[in-house]
Amino acid sequence: MDAGIVAEVQKEVVDLLVDLIKVDTSNPPGNETQTARLLDGWFRARGLEGQIVGEPAERANFVLRLEGTRPGPTLLLLAHMDVVPAEAESWSEPPFGGVVKDDHVWGRGAGDIKNLVAAHAVAVSRLAASGRDFAGSVIYAATADEEEGSICGALWLVQNRPDLVRSDYLLNEGGGEFQMLRGERVYDLTTGEKGTAQFRITVHGEAGHASVPLYRGNAVVAAAQVVQALYEYQADVHLETLPADYVRLLVTDEALCRRLLDAQTARAGLAELHERDDTVARLLEPHYGLTFSPTIVHSSSEAINVFPEQVVVTVDCRTLAGRGEDEVRIEVERALAGIDAPWELEFLGSVLGNASADPSPLREAIDRTMERFVPDARLVPVHCVGFTDSNWFRAAFPDVVAYGFGPSIEEDSDTVSDLCHNHDERIHVRDLTFQAVFAEELARGLLR
Ligand SMILES: [Zn+2]
Repeated sequence: MDAGIVAEVQKEVVDLLVDLIKVDTSNPPGNETQTARLLDGWFRARGLEGQIVGEPAERANFVLRLEGTRPGPTLLLLAHMDVVPAEAESWSEPPFGGVVKDDHVWGRGAGDIKNLVAAHAVAVSRLAASGRDFAGSVIYAATADEEEGSICGALWLVQNRPDLVRSDYLLNEGGGEFQMLRGERVYDLTTGEKGTAQFRITVHGEAGHASVPLYRGNAVVAAAQVVQALYEYQADVHLETLPADYVRLLVTDEALCRRLLDAQTARAGLAELHERDDTVARLLEPHYGLTFSPTIVHSSSEAINVFPEQVVVTVDCRTLAGRGEDEVRIEVERALAGIDAPWELEFLGSVLGNASADPSPLREAIDRTMERFVPDARLVPVHCVGFTDSNWFRAAFPDVVAYGFGPSIEEDSDTVSDLCHNHDERIHVRDLTFQAVFAEELARGLLR
C-alpha cells in the first residue's frame, strides 16, 4: 500500500485513539456517553451524522450508517467503548493519559478495544470521503457496557433499536491475533462463542452440635465430595466445534495429535498433553466439551460448633455453542451420581453459546484482504471460550455472520494478550494502523 496513505491513516487513527483513551470509561460505572459525544463530534467534523442512543442517559451508544452508491448487503463494524478499571500506581504511564511513546499508544483500552473503536471510525470516514463507492451499507457502532453487565450496549441495541443495527455481516473484537507456528503466521478468526450455564448445588445435611463427629449427614463433607466430583468429571467429548487445525499446528507428535482428534481417545490424549505441555493443553481442553469450575462454597451456619443444614457450591460452567441447560443437568447428575447426600441444582441465568456460518462471503472477503496485505497469513477458525457481544447479535438476527477479527501485524498474540486488561496496556502503532486499513479494505472487498 502507498506509504503516503498509510502515514495519513496512521496519523488520523493515533490521534483519535489518544482522544478516546483520555475519556475514562471504566466499567463500572462506564459513562460511555462522553465517548459517544466525542465520536459524534469527530464524525460531524467529517460531514457525517450518526445517532447517540441508549439508556440510561449516561450509558449511550453511538451508531452511524453509511449508504453505498449501489444496493447490497450490510456490514456492521462493532466495538465497545467501555474498559476495565485501571490502578494508576502500577502503570509506567497514566492509564488515561493517551501517551504515545516507543511506537506505542499507551492507556487503558488501547488493546481492548478502543483501538477498534478508532480503527473502524477511520475506515468508515475514509469510505465516505472516497465517494461511498460500494454496494450496500456500512454501519459503525460503538457500544457501552461490554466488560461488565452487558445490558446497556449491544443487547440494548438489538432489543430496542434493531432497525439501527440489523446486518448481514458483523465484524467485532475477539480474534485477529497471530502466533508463529511451524513457520506460518497463524491468525485466530473467532466464528463462535461458548455459552455460560452457571449454577448452584445445594447440599443438604443434618444440623446438630459438632462436639460429636457426624460420619453421615455432614453437609460440609458432602459438599467437599461434590467439589471433588465436579473437578474430576470428564465431560462428554464433542468434536464439532474443536479447532482441529489448531490441534494439528500445536501438537507436533503425530500419534498424540491423532488421539486428540478422535472422540474415543481425546480425554486420555488431553491427560497426556497436560503432562507434556500444560500451556497447549489448557488452550485446547475447553473446546472439547462443557467445563465445571467450582468457585464459591458457602455454609448455612456461621457457628464453628454447629453442623450446617445446607452448603451451597457455586460453579462457573461453560458450554459448547448450541448446547444448553438440559445437557448440563444430565452431566451434573452423572458427575454427582456417587454423592451420598441430598442435593439440588439451580441455574443462575444462562447464555446459550452460538456460532456463525463458516465458510461465508465474509470469510472469503477476510481471506482475500489478508492475502493481499499479509501473504504468509493462515487463518484458523476458533470459538471464543469467553464471551463477546457477537453473541447478542447472532441470537437476535439468526442469519447474521458475525466474526471476531481485528488483525495485528507487528506484535504476536503472547505480547498482545499479556497487555490486555493488564497495567501498561498499549498497542503498537503499526497494529493500530493496520486494523484501520484492514477494516476499510475489507468493507470494499465484501461490498463489491
Ligand atoms: Zn473487549
